[in-house]
Amino acid sequence: QSKKAHNFIQSLIEDAIAKGEHTGKVVTRFPPEPNGYLHIGHAKSICLNFGIAETFGGECNLRFDDTNPEKENQEYIDAIKRDVSWLGYEWAGDVRYASDYFDAIYDFAVELIEKGKAYVCALTAEEMSEYRGSLREPGKNSPYRDRPVAENLQLFRDMRDGKFANGELVLRAKIDMASPNINLRDPILYRIRYASHHQTGDKWCIYPMYDFTHPISDAMEGITHSLCTLEFEDHRPLYDWVLENISGPCHPRQIEFARLNLNYTVTSKRKLKRLVDEGFVDSWDDPRMPTISGMRRRGYTPESIRTFCDMVGVNKAGGTVDVGMLEHAIREDLNTRAPRAMCVMRPLKVTLTNYPEDKTETLELPVHPQDPTMGAREVPWTRELYIDREDFVEEPPRKWKRLAPDQAVRLRGGYVMTCRQIIRDDSGQIVELKCEYDPATLGVNPEGYKPNGVIHWVSATDSVEADINVYDRLFLHENPDSDRERDFTDHLNPESLVRLEKVRAEKSLGHPRADLPYQFEREGYFFFDEAASESGRLVFNRTVTLRDSWGQ
Ligand code: ATP
Ligand code: MG
Ligand code: MG
Repeated sequence: QSKKAHNFIQSLIEDAIAKGEHTGKVVTRFPPEPNGYLHIGHAKSICLNFGIAETFGGECNLRFDDTNPEKENQEYIDAIKRDVSWLGYEWAGDVRYASDYFDAIYDFAVELIEKGKAYVCALTAEEMSEYRGSLREPGKNSPYRDRPVAENLQLFRDMRDGKFANGELVLRAKIDMASPNINLRDPILYRIRYASHHQTGDKWCIYPMYDFTHPISDAMEGITHSLCTLEFEDHRPLYDWVLENISGPCHPRQIEFARLNLNYTVTSKRKLKRLVDEGFVDSWDDPRMPTISGMRRRGYTPESIRTFCDMVGVNKAGGTVDVGMLEHAIREDLNTRAPRAMCVMRPLKVTLTNYPEDKTETLELPVHPQDPTMGAREVPWTRELYIDREDFVEEPPRKWKRLAPDQAVRLRGGYVMTCRQIIRDDSGQIVELKCEYDPATLGVNPEGYKPNGVIHWVSATDSVEADINVYDRLFLHENPDSDRERDFTDHLNPESLVRLEKVRAEKSLGHPRADLPYQFEREGYFFFDEAASESGRLVFNRTVTLRDSWGQ
């Protein structure tokens, strides 16, 4: 496992421990809303929260922040659990839900009302935003602000008991309508929503707002450090206000860090959901999606994602990370670990005229050239082979390193052969090459002449057929979100998926491993798509090309 970089949050905690301000266990949480699948941005938060807990020998909870029942569902919950586990993290105890605390949250709301710190308000949404004022202008007090406590208690109970319609009343905190921080201008704590909830069913028709739920959930779980992204910095005074004004069990410390943004990518569940719902991609786990599940199907490893999050680091300043860095992380990981194999993408038949018709030699090639512990694979050598169409030209440019008429080339792990004749069909298209192999060249350089280079190949008669999904970036625009004139979907790359059918893969790929991508020699990294292969076709997804452009 790679060494984790030191980050400012770790330093803050170390300081607090050194000064005796923090004692006891460090407890963090990762709190996704189950309204979509996790994406690479969430991975940063997961690595941070679980990483901090691990560093200090503490614990990290997985808590579903489930206060918007209409947008949430069990499918998302299951997917999120799967993704966190797959990344290699274990949450402390059972999964938690903010909805576990709905009774407690309700009681704390009652406590605030009793203390004269919350009131039931009947302003409409438009009126409320008018009363709220703006950055330049203080807000105005709601006419309902001074409702007597007893009346507030009764109305709040009636809200809970279903005596009002959706949106008719809300419960608001009584803080300060003139605060320069708009979040403190009597924020809404509860609203009425007649919606079934995936955890609590129809028990509730009022649901607490995120800003009220979150500090209470953190306190209920004894979270010590509540790490969240920078857009919540302005909400911290409200987070603290809630905890100072209820008799909660403890007061966690909120610390903000910068969101991860990647170029050529969108990292917002709402936008990713649109890509799925509007059919721009096949599913949440489409290998082009920056979701954890999409990346998994694409061939990303948990290790590469964790290394990437480490490389990005954690800080206060925002910014956009080059997606090339993510690609670099998976390439580095696969370069050392991926088994090697050969796959011919555009098959062109080669007949070795001087090789016996019914003979097969079984060549033993290393699974990984630098790692003998990975063993060997068997690759059959026969009279008829396939090479890639692009590895042959009739009129080679200078310094051509592949096959051409009367030129010799080495077939990776096999023999050297020389092209003697080109066979065409009626339309003039090249359909076959007649070549001569040199029997003295297995693992040995030929005498008296020099082969041009090394190309990959498979047996034509003893290989398997496969389909390849060649994936490229999903967006052509560096920052698809930033264009104010056009929708981000206008910047989708029309060639983000190119399908190659009937490619020829070496025999060992007939039963591919599903835990790691392969390096197809000279082509890139490719991962077996188990789900897509259920139809009986053998399908591989291109994870990433071989060429690394990052950091050059
Ligand atoms: P989205 O806009 O994609 O829905 P979100 O912040 O609303 O993101 P949540 O489900 O609330 O999604 O996120 C769970 C946790 O992951 C939060 O603590 C959030 O701050 C963090 N998180 C989400 N997106 C990113 C990101 N791009 N970079 C870092 N952390 C993120
Ligand atoms: Mg959120
Ligand atoms: Mg969101």
